[in-house]
Amino acid sequence: MVSETMYALGSKRSCIRELFEYGLRQAKAVGKENVFDFSIGNPSIPSPPEVNEAFVSIVRDRDSLSVHGYTTAGGSDEARAAVAADLNARYDAHIKPQNLFFTCGAAPALIAAIRALAVEGAEIMAIAPYFAEYRPFVEANGPKFVAVPADREAFQIRFDELEARITSHTQGIIVNSPCNPSGVVYTQETLERLGEILTRKSQEYGHPIYILADEPYRELSYDGAEPPFIPNIYPSTIVCYSYSKSLSLPGERIGYVCVPDQAEDSQRVYAAVAGAARVLGHVCAPSLQQLVVAKCAAVRPDLKAYDRNRTALYEALTEYGYHCAKPTGAFYMFVQAPGGDAQAFSDRAKEKNLLVVPGGDFGCPDYFRVSTCVDYDMIQRSLPVFKELIETA
Ligand code: PLP
Repeated sequence: MVSETMYALGSKRSCIRELFEYGLRQAKAVGKENVFDFSIGNPSIPSPPEVNEAFVSIVRDRDSLSVHGYTTAGGSDEARAAVAADLNARYDAHIKPQNLFFTCGAAPALIAAIRALAVEGAEIMAIAPYFAEYRPFVEANGPKFVAVPADREAFQIRFDELEARITSHTQGIIVNSPCNPSGVVYTQETLERLGEILTRKSQEYGHPIYILADEPYRELSYDGAEPPFIPNIYPSTIVCYSYSKSLSLPGERIGYVCVPDQAEDSQRVYAAVAGAARVLGHVCAPSLQQLVVAKCAAVRPDLKAYDRNRTALYEALTEYGYHCAKPTGAFYMFVQAPGGDAQAFSDRAKEKNLLVVPGGDFGCPDYFRVSTCVDYDMIQRSLPVFKELIETA
């Protein structure tokens, strides 16, 4: 016998993976240049040169046993100190090395944070449109998943809807800014308002409601948008970070959970995160990657290519009549499906080898996601297809 829950999760691939793999097959069948794959969020800019230099010099110059050996469960002192120093320099954040727990990317970081809060009857909220994996991450680890309906114009937060869904069981709310799939960055004012509501509700219910700040796109913002460091606004914030996107290292699996001292019950939350990581088997994140982070904690990506893609697609699609909030972060656009049914639109697009992700799993079945971390020439080749699809909708 197998667990039906795990069987269901493992036997049905995510819609994004399905499309991506379909694209690879089609590229073999009809030629790579005839497939326009906007499905997956795989970084399309190389890692900054400092990162590759760090890999080489670490492997070349350091004692191999120390490079490849286990670190302590939460990560090496060296890596934690480097990240804490970087956060403090950038945000005046007062983070200590012992607030950090290294993980294999943002997904295990978030799951450890969710499990840490998974008391009996717990509810975890997310704001639509949300990263499609949040629902399984939450539900398979115990809590009830509660979705806050989307503000379909600007993809900001509908505070009335959010407040109406907070109950005495609410343990946390996942905040993802810059957002996958909308590309929206929450402003300081938005986060302050969110903080006020959560502070009031925490007092009302007599226990903290944590923000789980899922931040793999923190370094990816444009047009002067600057994602605030959320613990500086709302102290009971658990930050889940990843180098997958910022340093173009998604396959290397490195990130961290940060539980700042100022978060309520900080030490108990940190211990619960460590406990969750332990039972997930995710202690001691890859030690080579930790050493790379120790050297490159302050390195930032060069966003010119993503910015060019974003501008080119946004300008072309809106000129053709598509409706979309202009993304100022991450590398996605969330576009209203002509005709209102994103699945039908995605199916029609697929027939023309244009792969876009229908928004049902993101909590918005009338929108589709376009990844802009792609080749610029592919964007140019795809534009006539986007045009035709809206003209024939
Ligand atoms: N959270 C969001 C919003 C993401 O988009 C992703 C990956 O695309 C993740 C978490 C998982 O990131 P990682 O690959 O670092 O586990």
